[in-house]
Amino acid sequence: MDPIRNRALGAYLGLACGDALGATVEFLMPREIKAQYGTHREIVGGGWLRLKPGRVTDDTEMSLYLGQAILDSAGWNLGAVADSFAAWLKSKPVDVGATCRRGIRRYMLQGIVHGPESDSDGGNGAAMRNLPVALFTLGDDALFERCTLEQARITHHHPLADAGTLALGRMAQTLIQGGGIKECRAIANRLIAQHRQFRLIPYPGRASGYIVDTVQTAVHFFFFTDNFESCVVETVNRGEDADTTGALAGMLAGALYGAEAIPKRWLEKLEPEVVRRICEQVEGLLRLSGDS
Ligand SMILES: [Mg+2]
Repeated sequence: MDPIRNRALGAYLGLACGDALGATVEFLMPREIKAQYGTHREIVGGGWLRLKPGRVTDDTEMSLYLGQAILDSAGWNLGAVADSFAAWLKSKPVDVGATCRRGIRRYMLQGIVHGPESDSDGGNGAAMRNLPVALFTLGDDALFERCTLEQARITHHHPLADAGTLALGRMAQTLIQGGGIKECRAIANRLIAQHRQFRLIPYPGRASGYIVDTVQTAVHFFFFTDNFESCVVETVNRGEDADTTGALAGMLAGALYGAEAIPKRWLEKLEPEVVRRICEQVEGLLRLSGDS
């Protein structure tokens, strides 16, 4: 497989594996995880959502709906993206964040795709689903920024959520194009120069759904581990919003180490239909980017 496709596939499958692994320990604190699981490292389902082993949650599902909207429109069509989020909400998803639900309902009831700036929009819901945008805009940073902010605005409008979502997406793109941790550190340093809240050292230790906590956790373990499995395991064992921190750490680690670095035992647990759609979207989105 050509290296760009391999790393893009690693990012998307890594996102799904991190989501499925982390969902089991979502809302637990590290001490509680240790007491119940020792180190949590197997995709076993359960958790507060009582999931089947391998079931993914909103992080992967919203990514797949967003990716499908881009493919069905053969490019960017914000109305189609908003419609796809509405279709996802109507599909009775296993989990929906409060900010995402509010924004999608606002679109369904009022047709609004651009919510007003709000202090309560600093969650990670726009960041967790943005990988398809990063894939189809590979090589075009202006388009990446425009589409990222447009899809984010359907549910989230907050300067830190914007900055964190853009930085994570740029890290994924840089890695897929062959960059490494050094290039990602430069992106992190730019983010921290703009918004001190994101500073990584010392690691503050929170892994909540607040975008700052989410970015710090996913990026910290991405920087300080040297393989896919350790990165995702160490991230989800911080608990709290573990499915989303796991998904984003898995995205970064998959983009660096490639699809074959993902443990087979995890991939075999994912629903085959989810894996099939991820493979199809990686092909289609990279084709649209013209960078493959
Ligand atoms: Mg989730």
